[in-house]
Amino acid sequence: MKNAETYVESLKSLKLKVFASGEQITNIVDSPLIKPHINSAAMTYEMAHNPAFEDLVTTTSHLTGKKINRFTHIHQGTDDLVKKVKMLRMIAQQTGTCFQRCVGFDAMNAMYSVTYEMDRELNTPYHERFKQFLLYIQENDLMVAGSMTDPKGDRGLKPSQLKDPDLYTRIVEKNDKGIVIRGAKAHQTGIVNSHEMLIMPTIALTEDDKAFAVACAVPTDAPGVLHIFGRQTNDERKFGLIDQGNCRFGVVGGEALTVLEDVFVPWDRVFMCEEYQYAGALVERFACYHRQNYGGCKAGVSDIIIGASSLLSFYNGVSKASHIRDKIVEMVHLTETLYCCSIACSSEGNKLPCGSYYVNPILANVTKQNITRFIYEIARISHDIAGGFIATLPSEKDLLHPEIGKYVDKYFRGVDSVKTEDRIRIARLLENMTGGTALAESMHGAGSPQAQRVVMLRQANLDHKMTLAKKLAGIES
Ligand code: SF4
Ligand code: FE
Repeated sequence: MKNAETYVESLKSLKLKVFASGEQITNIVDSPLIKPHINSAAMTYEMAHNPAFEDLVTTTSHLTGKKINRFTHIHQGTDDLVKKVKMLRMIAQQTGTCFQRCVGFDAMNAMYSVTYEMDRELNTPYHERFKQFLLYIQENDLMVAGSMTDPKGDRGLKPSQLKDPDLYTRIVEKNDKGIVIRGAKAHQTGIVNSHEMLIMPTIALTEDDKAFAVACAVPTDAPGVLHIFGRQTNDERKFGLIDQGNCRFGVVGGEALTVLEDVFVPWDRVFMCEEYQYAGALVERFACYHRQNYGGCKAGVSDIIIGASSLLSFYNGVSKASHIRDKIVEMVHLTETLYCCSIACSSEGNKLPCGSYYVNPILANVTKQNITRFIYEIARISHDIAGGFIATLPSEKDLLHPEIGKYVDKYFRGVDSVKTEDRIRIARLLENMTGGTALAESMHGAGSPQAQRVVMLRQANLDHKMTLAKKLAGIES
């Protein structure tokens, strides 16, 4: 298993083509824009070597019997699903932000089971191929980006109806050696510090759209692949020390737009090629695994928001006020509610035909739906407790300025016993963790709210509920 150091070292040998803020970044490992996200992903490697968390972050490969990092594992029971959630909360408590590696973890679990079912029905060769790829990932402890979201263009049209079909990733050529794909993947979490990308379709497809039914593995630095790194709220603060708030780990997952310009993929890395009938199943399985996570990682992030809010209430001298205590309790209640749901969808998981385990889909979708609301409410309460200065603070350059620094220091002080700089640091941490980029990720990461409602309706078994009501009301038939 890699550790944080060997993971970062392994990124240096990648020949990634990355652009950020209009410039090509040749050394991603030392780029101040990207480094925090690398530090965050590196925690998934570091914690595997921490004896206190070994049971959560490592496990035994069902393929080789060897000890592996859990992020490369295929769930072998509901115990694995529960441990995944506990691991995510624990790591988020260290990073205060997204550590990115779960997307590929979920994509691998979805691909493992769907390729098995596809092969059984269509006699395709994908499951064994995928197992070989998985073995390579486990043996080398690689970070895989889960590449699902297509840019889509006009959302009212099917992929084949679009004037520009590249808005969905598609197969443009098939030959005896492999396939050539073209298109792009949007909002790619952790992609510029991943070794591999696991490409999947983004929606259920019909026969007309079979060219878009493609799943395959592509190295992040393969010829034809380029990444355009996203801007975030206040990302120039990454160049500072005090103002950035969480300068070591950044905000969310360092997302990028990944362009696939006629990328060749050899057959041994192709896991779906025109089997449009299985696109929907792959999308839904991946989505449910990923929605499971959010009561884990976001509960860990909320733990820090609660801690920062409590600290600010002390620094502001209002920690004993009963309404402040009540607001803290409200944040705790919301956070633990998120966590309960993640644990529930995991322990209510089921065995799939291939032998691996899947979360309870309706509970996983409720988990993520709650995130789209509760995280905003937790952020709202944290702003209420913090006070308006988190929005009006001068820059750290003013605090450190030889002439005006003394005024910032004097007039932004709270209680006497706490340094102004510490009060500013916590305020910036809160601002950073509850700002636009972080909130939008809670809304749309793992799918927008409507996507969860579609699954909830499908899984709700309304016929059964109507039968129950009729029986109780004495209605026959
Ligand atoms: Fe993992 Fe959470 Fe980041 Fe998704 S948002 S990749 S679940 S840490
Ligand atoms: Fe996410």
